[in-house]
Amino acid sequence: MTENAYIHIPFCSQKCNYCAFLSVSAPKYIPKYTETLKKEIEERYKGETLKTIYFGGGTPSLLTIEQINTILSPLKYSEDAEITLEINPESVNEEYLKNLKTKTPINRISIGIQTFDDEVLKILGRQHTSKTAVDVVNCAKKLGFKNISVDLMYGLPAQTIEKVREDVRKALELAPQHISLYGLKIERRTKWSHNPPQNLPDLDVQADMYEEITKILKENGYNHYEISNFALPQFESKHNLSYWKNKNYYGFGIGASGYEGDKRYTNSVSFQEYFEDYNIKSMSYKLTAQEKLEEEIFLGLRCTEGINIDEINKKYNIDFDKKYSEIIRKYQQTGHLKRNKTNVYLTINGMLISNEIFSEFIEI
Ligand code: SF4
Repeated sequence: MTENAYIHIPFCSQKCNYCAFLSVSAPKYIPKYTETLKKEIEERYKGETLKTIYFGGGTPSLLTIEQINTILSPLKYSEDAEITLEINPESVNEEYLKNLKTKTPINRISIGIQTFDDEVLKILGRQHTSKTAVDVVNCAKKLGFKNISVDLMYGLPAQTIEKVREDVRKALELAPQHISLYGLKIERRTKWSHNPPQNLPDLDVQADMYEEITKILKENGYNHYEISNFALPQFESKHNLSYWKNKNYYGFGIGASGYEGDKRYTNSVSFQEYFEDYNIKSMSYKLTAQEKLEEEIFLGLRCTEGINIDEINKKYNIDFDKKYSEIIRKYQQTGHLKRNKTNVYLTINGMLISNEIFSEFIEI
């Protein structure tokens, strides 16, 4: 049964220099996109009562209140469903936030702050200033939003550990319930892919930044529940946990990925194709039993509690300790992995090389 839905809104007012997400600066298409998305949902949604819905982007806060409600109209969701909208600070004002709170079921907002350093925000190509970001969080709190997440980035141009501490201090002053943390990566097909800034902190400094932020957030009561995510008790993102717990979820919208039954898919990434036929996929395949197990391992290890050995043994009819004894021993010895009575999990150092560790579990 699929109880979670991701909805992709691929529009931004301008493309950030580092952005590899599927988003375009073409607001005139938003009305047509809204209608197509609604049709896609009406056709593909099987009527389950959803527990989480997540509007990601792009900049979902470019949608009007009416458009948000239009997209949600075919969906059923439980009274306590977590319904998140990603927000870019410059795209909202008090009236919008008030209407969002009172006229839509959105009960969680995720605000892309990234840094409080205005110079760096400009270099990144972001449209907001730190003051705008602070004002938006404070306004949302005043209006009664009780589940606010903010995004922060590290590894930014000319950033030092001291500047990172300053960013975290300012984020903590806002007292959000949830903080997501992303290291800047220069990805292909971004404005920076051929001409990256020359003053990026090196990998060792980035690792120090990650450890420092993690330490400060933990000291301030945030549970480091996933490699990139921190939450006050009870405010872990239920939607994102559904990914990491390997649950099914719908992916609606252009380029959205979903996981239904044992099939993973990604919708077409072409606007023309999506508008002509939203059922066209750019990727779709059925997972083998081995692939399911591998995914369960990667996703489980992303969470700080790691993998429960008994559960995975029962679910996949394996002896985890025996099957992966060499990998476990190797990374236990290097201090990247730990095993307690029930679980195996990554240490902070392990999280820094998580992709290397995950690849070891893949059977070729
Ligand atoms: S706001 Fe987000 S999705 Fe939009 S261009 Fe910037 S990084 Fe990309």
